[in-house]
Formats: sequence, C-alpha cells, structure tokens
Amino acid sequence: MNRLAILPSSSVPPPVAASAPPAVDPAEVAPEDWNDWRWQLRHSITTGEQLAALVTLTDDERAGIAAAPGLFRIGTTPYYFSLVDRAHPACPVRRQIIPTGLEARIRPEELEDPLGEETHNPTPALIHKYPDRVLLLAVDRCAIYCRHCNRRRLVGGDAPPTRDELEQAFDYIARTRRVRDVLISGGDPLCLSTAKLDYILTRLRQIPHVEIIRLGTRVPVVLPMRITGQGGDELVAMLRRHHPLFVNTHFNHARELTPLARAACEKLVDAGIPVGNQTVLLRGINSSVRSLRRLMRELIKTRVRPYYLFQGDTVAGTDHLRTSIETAQELMAGLRGWMSGMAVPQLVLDAPGGGGKIPIGPNHLVETHADRVVVRSYRGALVDYPQPLERDATVPYDEVFFAGEPEDDDREGGPDA
Ligand SMILES: *Cc1c(COP(=O)(O)O)cnc(C)c1O
Repeated sequence: MNRLAILPSSSVPPPVAASAPPAVDPAEVAPEDWNDWRWQLRHSITTGEQLAALVTLTDDERAGIAAAPGLFRIGTTPYYFSLVDRAHPACPVRRQIIPTGLEARIRPEELEDPLGEETHNPTPALIHKYPDRVLLLAVDRCAIYCRHCNRRRLVGGDAPPTRDELEQAFDYIARTRRVRDVLISGGDPLCLSTAKLDYILTRLRQIPHVEIIRLGTRVPVVLPMRITGQGGDELVAMLRRHHPLFVNTHFNHARELTPLARAACEKLVDAGIPVGNQTVLLRGINSSVRSLRRLMRELIKTRVRPYYLFQGDTVAGTDHLRTSIETAQELMAGLRGWMSGMAVPQLVLDAPGGGGKIPIGPNHLVETHADRVVVRSYRGALVDYPQPLERDATVPYDEVFFAGEPEDDDREGGPDA
C-alpha cells in the first residue's frame, strides 16, 4: 500500500449543502461544548460553503476553495476560526485556514514529498533521516489543515496508521540501537485519545535506548481546550509519566497567542514538559521583523522557547507563501542581538531530497584567517577576533571518562548504515 500518495480527490468529503452558519462565536455556544475538544473536532469547518457562510470571501479565496478538493483539504476548529479577522483577507489566521487561487499553481520544482521522506521510510509509519532520531507518523489527522502544510500528502484523516504499522515502527526502533530520540508527529498526536497516545508512549518507553520523546503538535494553537478543558488533567498527568518528554508546537503569529492558548502551554510547562516552538516563515503573513519580534517575545513570556524558524519547504502549491532566502536572512538579522537570545529561533531550511535541516544564517563570520577571524556584530560593526596559538583540541580526560565504552559511532551510523 502506498501510504505516501497525495490525497486522492475522491477521499475529500463532498461539500455539504449550505445551512445555518457553523458556530464559531464562543458567546453562542454552551461553554461546556466550546471547551470540549471533541465538540470542537466534531464541529470543524471543512467546506467552502461553511466558510462562505462565515466570511465574505474574496475572489482569490473563492478560487482557492474551488481548487482545494484536488489539492489539500480544508479544515479548522471553530475555536481557531474564531480568531479570524473577518474584515481583513490578510489576517494571518485567515491566511492559514483559507486557500487562495495561487495554491493551484504548482511549479515543476515543487514536490509532494519535498523532504525526501519516502526514501527514508524503513517501515510505513516511520521516517529515519538522522543518525540518532526518528519521526513516528502516529496519526494522519489534524485539528487544522494549514495552507503551508509540508506533509499534506500524508495528512487527511482517511488512512491512519494501523496498529500493525505502529508495532512495526516500535520493532524497528527496538532493534535500531542508535535511536535515542523519537519525535511523534503525523498528523497531530494530541488529536489521539489519551489512551491511544499512552499506548504509543508506553511502547516507546519499553525500549531502553530511547532517551527522549518529543511531541510535534499544533493543538496548543488550534485546540487548546484539549489541554485546558475536560480530560486535560488526565492527558497532562499521562504525559508526565513518560518523562523526559518535550513538546514542540507551532505558533506563527502573536494573534494566535490567546489567553487560552497561553494557558495550554503553561499547563504543559507546569507539568515539567519543556515547550518549544517551530514557526514557519510565511510571506505576507509573518514575514516582517516587527511581527516576528512580537511573536517570539510573547512566546518566551509564556515560557515557550522559540526553536526553529523554517524557511518554506518546496511543497506543491505553496510557492506563494515562501520568502526568498535573502529576506529570511534579513528578518533573522532583525532578531539576533536586538532581543533576548532566549527568544531567538534558529533559521533553518529543510533540504529538498532529505538532507535534513540546515542553518542558513545570516552569516556573522565574515573572514577566516589562520591568525584571526572577522565577525560582524548585530549592529553591523566588523570586529577582529584573534585565533589562539595552540590548535590541538583533543581532550585527555576522555580516555578516563569513556574508559571501556565503544567509540561513538554516530558519524558513521547514518540511517542507511
Ligand atoms: C525535523 C526532523 C527531526 C528532528 O530534527 P531536530 O533538528 O533534531 O529537531 C527528525 N527527523 C525528521 C524526519 C525531521 O524532519
């Protein structure tokens, strides 16, 4: 079975007949419903008709919605939709939910699988690209289908990994001793029931060489009541039984950091789960120094540590959302040094073909000589840094500290070794 095929249009649910507009105003929904994550998922907005009943769509958005069924499904929780500025098509939340006509413009350079994940796929639910860490595709649904999704070929909610595929992944990890770090992604693992996620984490924790586990999730952004609402205490109590466990979430704009989203992040952090953030640089959505600074500052205030800022992947239908590399570097130069280093993410490009994440600067090292280097400060000043006289960097105590241990083979032990 080819789990990596792009979503066939036949699997996209047909639009339902327009009826009353979906409920997206928390004031009009009983609080016990609004704060129930399963109610949110059951009432997700998934069709152009529903969107049209909620906002005055632009022609461009109408064209995007018309093209969407053959490309990538539409979907958002009512909660996340409630953050849309309905008066402005440029609203950063709106732009992540509603496609525009340019999504149908597929460039030959673009790919369904821009990161070469299919060729690093030892078992159907696993991607093994780096020596010591793997990515587990635990589920194929999300609470929102982001217009910039780089795994859109996999995500759609119609072909979840089977229990047998999950067991194959656990077997592979168990017999691959290099794997120390398992990233659970998909789809969104916090869209799983607490019991199902507990089963996955328990199986991973039975493998002695798995040191850390990470969850990649947008739930704090788009479905925070999964964590703050009913069942949230059980979820967090379950998660903390599997420490050391980290969460990486995905805020792209300060508008998304509502009191509820903050409460969700803080509840995780209070349970001893460090929360990091991976932002995707999105042209016209967050591609200004001002917008990025505000986002990063608000994140760190919430005790969420900015981790990566991603240059856009070359995924089919997202060219219009990418910035040039030069723009990305200029934006980064507006962060580093100008604000708390704790709030500065690393700008990376996930290389086409599976090369992994590569830092792309900006480069502050201007010249390298044997006796000195020249570096550029955040204010643009060029500074000389003298190189040391001695060059031998071997650590004599390593022989004592690592006595009896085999040589660290991480360099040689790539996924194909
Ligand atoms: C991003 C990613 C990882 C983790 O990379 P880090 O740089 O360690 O955060 C692991 N596997 C795959 C396939 C990834 O895409």
